[in-house]
Amino acid sequence: MRDLAGETVLLTAGPTREAIDPVRYITNRSSGKMGYAIATAAAARGAEVVLISGPVTLAPPLGVRLIMVETAAQMYNAVFAELPRATIVIKAAAVADYRPAVVASQKIKKQADDVVLHLEKTPDILAAVGRVKGSRFLVGFAAETNDVLQYGQRKLVEKNCDLLVANCVGRSGSGFESDHNEVALLARCGSIVHCESAPKTVIAERILDEIVRVRLRSRHPESSAEVLPEATVPEMS
Ligand code: C5P
Repeated sequence: MRDLAGETVLLTAGPTREAIDPVRYITNRSSGKMGYAIATAAAARGAEVVLISGPVTLAPPLGVRLIMVETAAQMYNAVFAELPRATIVIKAAAVADYRPAVVASQKIKKQADDVVLHLEKTPDILAAVGRVKGSRFLVGFAAETNDVLQYGQRKLVEKNCDLLVANCVGRSGSGFESDHNEVALLARCGSIVHCESAPKTVIAERILDEIVRVRLRSRHPESSAEVLPEATVPEMS
């Protein structure tokens, strides 16, 4: 199946690292497996794929242009450098929402009994892309421990996404670091597809299927209703 031929998919994956000093950093739990699986699947389906990745221990996917970054600011710059050519943008990265406001130039010595870190917000890349996306198809991810669908719906609208992959990370055997995942795919038109727990390679295909389905329907609203399967009802709370 080469249903993504002609598309340029811009993907982010993995965590970002925000330095505290030259030897310490803050980060998010993320293996990058979900984003890398989507990159591999999109390339196999005929897309040109640009993968912007934070630090991970995964092998570079075949047939994909890989750009390695470390911080949220570097990821932001790389995304905006590649955005003009992209037709589909998928933001699977677990970007740090906050970073130390000041990065110490030397290792902070262990002296005081407690230390207060002043954190500042990182640029919200997804929201920034959402403001200028034009006709590009924008996919965001939401990793939540509770009220996944509710937060997902809110994020879908607030960040101007076309599709949001809502991910419950509170369970074992699913979510970050696992080879499996269980997600709900929330589309702007209101459809919700629940994907039962499955290997991330399978979930990657389901996400791409849904991107193709929603794109096709938005381009040909009258014809797609009979051809395309109806969305299933979610079971995720
Ligand atoms: O609001 P929240 O960080 O939970 O949103 C998650 C989504 O936003 C993911 O798609 C993630 O890649 C993206 N994100 C981003 N820039 C940030 C934080 C999150 O692009 N600084």
